[in-house]
Amino acid sequence: MFFPVDPTRLVLVVSIWLGLAFSLPSFGPNLDDDTESTFGKEPSDAITRDVCVIGGGAAGTYAAIRLRELGRSVVLVEREEQLGGHTRTYYDPEGRPIDYGVWVYQNNTEASNFFAHFNIPLTGQDFSRISEGSQRIDLRTGQRVPPPSGNVTDAMMRYVQILLQYPYLSDGWDLPDPVPEDLVLSFREFIEKHDLGAAVETITLYVQGLGDILSYPMVYIMKYFSFGVALGVQSGFSTSASRANGELFQAARNELGDDVLLSATVAGMERSDSGARILVATPSGDVLIEADKLIIAIPPLLKQLENFDLNDQERELFGQFGNSYYYTTVLNLSGVPNEVQILNRGADTPYNIPVMPGTYVFYPSQIQTLFTGFFGGGSQNMTEDEVIQTIKDNALQLRNAGFDVADPEILAYGNHSPFNLFVPAEAIARGFYRNLYSLQGNRRTYYTGAAWHAHDSAALWKFTERLLNERVFVD
Ligand SMILES: Cc1cc2nc3c(=O)[nH]c(=O)nc-3n(C[C@H](O)[C@H](O)[C@H](O)COP(=O)(O)OP(=O)(O)OC[C@H]3O[C@@H](n4cnc5c(N)ncnc54)[C@H](O)[C@@H]3O)c2cc1C
Repeated sequence: MFFPVDPTRLVLVVSIWLGLAFSLPSFGPNLDDDTESTFGKEPSDAITRDVCVIGGGAAGTYAAIRLRELGRSVVLVEREEQLGGHTRTYYDPEGRPIDYGVWVYQNNTEASNFFAHFNIPLTGQDFSRISEGSQRIDLRTGQRVPPPSGNVTDAMMRYVQILLQYPYLSDGWDLPDPVPEDLVLSFREFIEKHDLGAAVETITLYVQGLGDILSYPMVYIMKYFSFGVALGVQSGFSTSASRANGELFQAARNELGDDVLLSATVAGMERSDSGARILVATPSGDVLIEADKLIIAIPPLLKQLENFDLNDQERELFGQFGNSYYYTTVLNLSGVPNEVQILNRGADTPYNIPVMPGTYVFYPSQIQTLFTGFFGGGSQNMTEDEVIQTIKDNALQLRNAGFDVADPEILAYGNHSPFNLFVPAEAIARGFYRNLYSLQGNRRTYYTGAAWHAHDSAALWKFTERLLNERVFVD
């Protein structure tokens, strides 16, 4: 989630940063050969495509649309009823939208091209709504918390200058060997080493959903609050002019038509050096997909990869990932002025970092009394009831801070878990991501998505574009 910084706008002194035609050894649908013996069941339908993409979030949807645009046949397999992954748009009874997932985009070529492809206009994100700024409150008690002490602008400038030393972070995980010390320090150690205490609030406003953030290897913080995000903070982000980012994925769904299988799960898979056969269970029966190439665009956790034919190397690497838990809501919070955002700050915690599980922020929407609530579960997988109860408890603490808050009503709920995938600093130093990247192309399988780059839609579209052009189209 990208949030506006407080009135302190960053003054960044920055230097400028910086087909082969598909060989189609089509299998052709051959339902009657060994499908039943391979997968233990007979599909009701079979399709052949150049590429099968699994996962219709930001990365997978972009891949599918671009593949079609570039003349490849494609099928997109998505577990949910709609595309978009972490993108969620709520519509009130009058049809007015509120984004309560992905909210704003970095300005890069891939983002503007993707929106332009669907004729969806973009606009600058408007932070004027929070003209009264932020109110910092410990939402466990309602106690008010002072703003960070020290010079925030200077500290942020120092942070960005450090970021500039690692330009390769904006392209993926091609880390040098040995991995620079700064990247494998914990966030806490990094703050102390570089005297960045005054920057912690700003950084953590943008870096949400990770869990115990002070213990995180610094490289994850740098991937999240990247140079691109710093530029967005300085010069603005974009969002859909209608303030409904879900429209992008609805348009993609319409364009893909029968080439998207929704509410679909992998029931079996067989990959080889000549292609992939994927049995997919859909509401209208099992479909056998035979594809020359496979793009996996889902979080590569073992529990998400059920029925995938993982080999030992894949299983060993994916098995190392841990993950955090992240939730969002739209809530009616009457009694809080629509011009303020409520930041949860710990009154007694290091750098006033809020305690998890708990709310990060209540952000006012363009509709009076409606707010988006962003909520971190930390390392805890919580039920919907637990999340909603804690958000309500947090909101009611605002009474102790002087707000005449009525009982909050939850209008929409989004579970974004598993959210961030991470491995320990020692694994990163030992070359975990080098080994992970060595999987690209094996058994005609390619990977994209946040775990392969960053939790940043525009950055992921750039990453995916490169993957298509440099690997998928040429291998
Ligand atoms: C609350 C929130 C706010 C954010 N705000 C911003 C923002 O403002 N700007 C920004 O740039 N980024 C933002 N991000 C980060 C960004 O949206 C994500 O990093 C991005 O959505 C990741 O895209 P992805 O394709 O890797 O994964 P996802 O979007 O998670 O997509 C993965 C898809 O795969 C599907 N799937 C999973 N398993 C399977 C399976 N086995 N079979 C089939 N399908 C499966 C899922 O249902 C999902 O649709 C935000 C993230 C969150 C959670």
